[in-house]
Amino acid sequence: MFEPVTIEDFLAKLAEIKSEADLTRIKASFEFAQKAHFGQKRESGEDFVQHPLEVASIVFDLGMDTTSIMAAFLHDVVEDTPIDIEEIRKQFGSEVALLVDGVTKLTRLAFQSKQEQQMENLRKMFLAMAQDLRVIIIKLADRLHNMRTLKHLPEEKQKKIAKETLEIYAPLTHRLGMWKVKWELEDLALRYLDPEAYYDLVNKVAMKRQEREGIISAVKQTLQRALAEIELKAEVQGRPKHFFSIYEKMQEQGKDFSEIYDLMGLRVIVPTVQDCYEVLGIVHTLWKPMPGRFKDYVAMPKSNMYQSLHTTVIGPNGEPLEIQIRTWEMHRTAEYGIAAHWLYKENSPDDKELHEKIAWLRHLIEWQGEMKDSEEFMETLRIGLFMDEVFIFTPKGDVKNLPAGSTPVDFAYSIHSALGHQCTGAKINGRLVPLDYQLKNGDIIQIISSKQSTGPSRDWLQFVKTSKAKNRIRQWLREQLREENIQIGREMIERELRKRGMDIQENMRQENLLETTKKFGFTIIDDLLSAVGDYKVTANQVLGKMGLEKEPLRPLKSEFEERKRTRKSSQGIKVRGVENLLVRFSKCCNPVPGDPIVGYITRGKGVSVHRQDCPNLGSEDNERIIEVAWDQEIQGTYPVDIEIEGLDRVNFLTDIMNAISEMKLYLSAAKARSKKGLAFINLTLEIAHSDQIQLIFKRVKKVEGVQRIYRVSRLVR
Ligand code: MN
Repeated sequence: MFEPVTIEDFLAKLAEIKSEADLTRIKASFEFAQKAHFGQKRESGEDFVQHPLEVASIVFDLGMDTTSIMAAFLHDVVEDTPIDIEEIRKQFGSEVALLVDGVTKLTRLAFQSKQEQQMENLRKMFLAMAQDLRVIIIKLADRLHNMRTLKHLPEEKQKKIAKETLEIYAPLTHRLGMWKVKWELEDLALRYLDPEAYYDLVNKVAMKRQEREGIISAVKQTLQRALAEIELKAEVQGRPKHFFSIYEKMQEQGKDFSEIYDLMGLRVIVPTVQDCYEVLGIVHTLWKPMPGRFKDYVAMPKSNMYQSLHTTVIGPNGEPLEIQIRTWEMHRTAEYGIAAHWLYKENSPDDKELHEKIAWLRHLIEWQGEMKDSEEFMETLRIGLFMDEVFIFTPKGDVKNLPAGSTPVDFAYSIHSALGHQCTGAKINGRLVPLDYQLKNGDIIQIISSKQSTGPSRDWLQFVKTSKAKNRIRQWLREQLREENIQIGREMIERELRKRGMDIQENMRQENLLETTKKFGFTIIDDLLSAVGDYKVTANQVLGKMGLEKEPLRPLKSEFEERKRTRKSSQGIKVRGVENLLVRFSKCCNPVPGDPIVGYITRGKGVSVHRQDCPNLGSEDNERIIEVAWDQEIQGTYPVDIEIEGLDRVNFLTDIMNAISEMKLYLSAAKARSKKGLAFINLTLEIAHSDQIQLIFKRVKKVEGVQRIYRVSRLVR
């Protein structure tokens, strides 16, 4: 059916329109491919290099540029020979390398799964992986030649490739408006998928052909004569329908072959748009149009920018006959689709006409409905349709799409919450990767999970991308927190009982607790305990509802007052060389034992003790500063002011309070405010030694959302 292309003929054809420089580069790419594939044979027995030569020839016939032709020659070199992409880059530049790399990646895409619902995903992935539209066109040319030579493969392989062609490649050509390639791919696919139906159709069409051709040539002559009379330059072509479209029509409409009339139509190609309508008028005066069959795709182009006038008229024998009328420009777009964009556009990417052409590309993109920044896309002629998605394979070969930037953890949660919780590691293409690895198109991912896993880590929230993963992790953490709160709540109630000298065992009995729980409107004891641990209910309130006397042996306040008293004395501080000096702690920086401190001799109020880094100690008055030190046997607690900054959320304060309470620290003051989504929390904690501060910082930083934590000093001057 197809004569093999020879390199001599091809170069001769190229020489007619290509510059000397382009010819030299194209020739070099052919010779490189020839050398690289040397000794390799195709299934047909011919030298392998014949395949890239044929592909390059198809690419040229589609009107593609020099870069595309070179890439077509080299398209199988990286996949099938030891030469790598770097070598291609060195020899032929980065643009050619980019195209070769793209085609290689698409080749490596294994379409293992045949499930219908995955086809759309596969097609999207296909487009996403090819960063340059020319990659797709070369890949389609590659597939076309492989389909043309499919007869050399074993039957099973033929069917697999034909099915893939029909499911992936033909819809792509449709999307790109490349009708000529589409028809050929579809007819070839049908031939291998349903040979019986295909050859049956071929025979029936051939049998009807004579009869049809008689009609067509009569109509053609009538029309040509009418057009010549008004001196309209037009080409009138007989247009055989491709087999697959007849097959599809019969299948879809449940029709028999004898009921399909429009096996052949007529096409009229004219110079201008105005001519189109003029021809239409003439056609309608010659034959009676069928009502409802006229379509004006000139005024209203199809979404892939197809333009033509379609009308169906009643022919001489009373049979319907479809006539398409279009300009040469429209014809080129109809035949080559997206490829028409490059037609005769070598080395002139900036001219005005190109921008007009780009308009239909833009329509194409808008039609996809995915691309926001189509303007920018057009500048680079890159495919950015699905940049916000990443397509990956499961070990079984299913395609999954996730938002770009997703990680193995996102993937695990997208499969199942339990898999997410138990996820301990991941393999990408068989290699171990960190959990925050960003998935790439075409990755084959395998999750390593363990039932012994300690569960998700709070850190995961920093890198997961999907809201599903985020929500599941938060939910899990909340449940964990609840466990902790129950524990803390129980301890708080017990502590309160102990403080009042009451019987813990007796008061904490199940039925006792359950009764109290109900009084709070809860149904299960854990809810009450967790509420106490979460500071929603105080231990005092619980004891009150238990019917225990509020009259405490030692109320909380007095305990605190006692501590304050301890602190107020000068106990714990030694002032070098001076005895019995009035010593007090500064209120601005609240030094605690362990802090490096200095004394400041005040006017008439003795020595005030500051932290060495207190901002209130100016550089002046240096003679007033004296050395002081903490006593070895210091006791009591000292207040420390800290401020916490974080991203505000529900329970942010509660979570921080829980962290503090976990450390069994006494909190003497708390203040929280929220501003523009940020939360600021000021706490005054009673602590015994500065070492505790680092522990507090460490613990509080683990609370989700905490951004900063630091000690506060108040400026008093
Ligand atoms: Mn190939």
